[in-house]
Amino acid sequence: MTDKIIHPTIATVGATRHILKHFKLRASKRLGQNFLIDRSIVRGIVDAADIVDGEPVLEIGPGIGTLTQGLLEAGAHVTAVELDKKLPDVLAETLKGYDNLSIVQGDILKVDINQLMGGKNFKVVANLPYYITSQIILTLLEQRLPITRLVTMVQREVAERMIANPENLSPNDSAKIYGALSVAVQYFTEPRIIFDVPPTAFMPSPEVTSSVIVCDVRSQPPVEIADEKLFFRVVRGAFGQRRKTVINSLTGAGFERDRLSAAFDQSGINQKLRAENLTLEMFAALTRALA
Ligand code: SAM
Repeated sequence: MTDKIIHPTIATVGATRHILKHFKLRASKRLGQNFLIDRSIVRGIVDAADIVDGEPVLEIGPGIGTLTQGLLEAGAHVTAVELDKKLPDVLAETLKGYDNLSIVQGDILKVDINQLMGGKNFKVVANLPYYITSQIILTLLEQRLPITRLVTMVQREVAERMIANPENLSPNDSAKIYGALSVAVQYFTEPRIIFDVPPTAFMPSPEVTSSVIVCDVRSQPPVEIADEKLFFRVVRGAFGQRRKTVINSLTGAGFERDRLSAAFDQSGINQKLRAENLTLEMFAALTRALA
């Protein structure tokens, strides 16, 4: 192979190896760097994003530009935020020639996303770093940014938690998977898993299977809540000690026992239930009664 570093498709074993070698890079485990090397997966993710020409897309963690290239080829206007300080220079080379790209070096949990995206509607597309997947998804949703759709690659186990209903069990180990993440994701969006991705689609290969999940952001929440902040305090408090009943967990989380007891009675929710038994509507009813 020559020393040329512009690849028509970065998503191959050969191109990825070449780029890593050329720039003397090693995938950082600490930053969750598992680069995609399968172009059919890149195509699947880009198709799921359903991009209209010129549409703004926020990509989190572009890495060496694999998925970014697919998005750029589809006509997206990509703003790519990458934490690794070494990578913007690499991306400037691997994605040279595309004029629909801005690269920002920074931490997605700290940058002002609304300012970055100019206050316009946008989509989020990302092969997320696994060490902070849930944190990133929750941060994006809770900021109420004008996001219309999120297409993300996450660990399959996280994707299952995002779509879980009360009392759902993990297919692997029968662990209870419905939790605060499920409630928040389903409150803000309509999520669906579209396909699984084997470890062999990445370099280096992770230990687990991944899934691509599409979350269409709702224009209206599915339940009525006057005080959203209180709702999330209740949800987090309830799942904080999931072996306890909700009323005991919430007492532990600082809610007054008498007020709680009255709220359970008013909303008609059995005081013996645990957080994993409560639907989104039941959490909403409890919050309304507590407000
Ligand atoms: N998009 C590339 C791909 O699909 O091949 C790389 C995906 S890799 C799983 C995750 C990327 O997120 C890495 O490039 C990593 O450096 C970056 N990253 C990790 N933490 C981040 C953060 N807090 N903010 C922005 N990027 C981050």
